[in-house]
Amino acid sequence: MPLHPIAFPRDSQHDHRIFTRAAYIQFNVSNRRSSVFQKLMQLWGVVRESHRQPMTGEPVPPQLVDADEMGVTFIGHSSFLIQIAGRNILVDPVFATRLVLLRRARKPGIRIQDLPPIDAVLLTHAHMDHLNLPSLRRIVKHARKLTGVAPQVIVPGGVRDLVDRLGFRSVTELEWWQSAPLDADTPEQRITVTMTPCKHWGARMFNDTHRLYGGYVLQGGGHSIYHSGDTAYFNGFREIGQRLQPQVALLPIGAYYPDSYRGVHTSPEEALQGFLDLGTATTMIAMHFGTFPLGREPMDEPPERLMAAAKEAGIADRVLVLPEGGMHVEEARDAAGSTRASLRRSA
Ligand SMILES: [Zn+2]
Ligand SMILES: [Zn+2]
Repeated sequence: MPLHPIAFPRDSQHDHRIFTRAAYIQFNVSNRRSSVFQKLMQLWGVVRESHRQPMTGEPVPPQLVDADEMGVTFIGHSSFLIQIAGRNILVDPVFATRLVLLRRARKPGIRIQDLPPIDAVLLTHAHMDHLNLPSLRRIVKHARKLTGVAPQVIVPGGVRDLVDRLGFRSVTELEWWQSAPLDADTPEQRITVTMTPCKHWGARMFNDTHRLYGGYVLQGGGHSIYHSGDTAYFNGFREIGQRLQPQVALLPIGAYYPDSYRGVHTSPEEALQGFLDLGTATTMIAMHFGTFPLGREPMDEPPERLMAAAKEAGIADRVLVLPEGGMHVEEARDAAGSTRASLRRSA
């Protein structure tokens, strides 16, 4: 078990209290005296509301980048296709139309059948909006069809049992601050994955609180990127920046209302502060908004608040809200060691 240098224990009473109140799909049960019936009615209201509007958006074929570039394509919610060191990696891929009964508001920006051959899948935690079994099965099948080889998968400690019968080539569990190299055929393809701490919880149902949760920093091909997973604001952002110096940061901006949710999720302003705390990161890309109504804030509020805060801080040019299917590209490093970035939208 590696050192956990963050000042709070991962199964603290605080997190457990939030967990029992929020369950795995978060809906407003903040009134402790409300009856089970009232809670069910509230949940039903959220589910019914999610079915009221037609799903928006149209998937586009993903654009591919050169091996010395890094491409970050937003699939939707917390799902990303990351092209780094010539490899194709998915983080928290969820292509499902529904999470149990809750329907997504926007279609994924890419279809599974249009994905390039996937080398690895990284899962940040076992919550339904991050670990979707039907999506994972289809991703394995698609990669096998293209290349004959299934991807490897990396999960937090205690999550192996959920993925070990899906056909992945291998399953690797990581603890906070632990690193693993991804499989590589050549030295140029070498990528190191480090699991980073976060302030959240990992149970998929109610009693499986042994499951760890985290984020990842990927380093390879002269590039680096941080996907925080789900997290509240915490002083770990600073330490992640100091230890791993990620260049691009994918940070969550939704599911922050009512205020009690901020024990496990960042508000847009807190996510922006997390980005600044990282110190070295030059670009922030927003995630965890607009797809599943997990918080009670209006669906379009998180990006508006994020961009208003970024403007006020004078860093609006470094903060991106990508459309589903949109891609950010970090170009190859030049002789001076700096990179140029550009925004491309797949057509
Ligand atoms: Zn979560
Ligand atoms: Zn989530």
